[in-house]
Amino acid sequence: MGNLADVLRARGYKVTGPRQQVFDALEGTEKPLSPYEIQNLLQEEDSFLNHVTIYRILDLFSRLGLAHRVLSNSGFVKCNLPGQEGCHRFVICRCCGSVQEFADKELCRKEKSFALDCGFHAESHLSETLGLCAKCYGRRDEKTTI
Ligand SMILES: [Zn+2]
Ligand SMILES: [Zn+2]
Repeated sequence: MGNLADVLRARGYKVTGPRQQVFDALEGTEKPLSPYEIQNLLQEEDSFLNHVTIYRILDLFSRLGLAHRVLSNSGFVKCNLPGQEGCHRFVICRCCGSVQEFADKELCRKEKSFALDCGFHAESHLSETLGLCAKCYGRRDEKTTI
């Protein structure tokens, strides 16, 4: 599963304090976090990591599929679909910033075939859908009447 220690060890990496701390910070939120936000969260727990270290850890996590970079707000989220086939894609609420993840092999297959029609050999896909989550969509009428 998405257990940090298992994934790191399986790929020949050690579980270090900083890696565990950054992972815990991502696990504690539904919203993408930037390296600076992670640094602030850790500082609240009296623990200091410089942002370059945090960035390197996030980069490692991304390569191992433990986390993903969210392009539209330059933050990182923990992968919620460990091991699931197909590229992992996101729906992102523009109001509250919450992120949900899904994967669809069929969608990847289609995108690959569109690319191949252009003579292009696709290796991966990035996809983010922006809009309103169920909660914010439900509240949208309240807001517009204020
Ligand atoms: Zn994922
Ligand atoms: Zn929302």
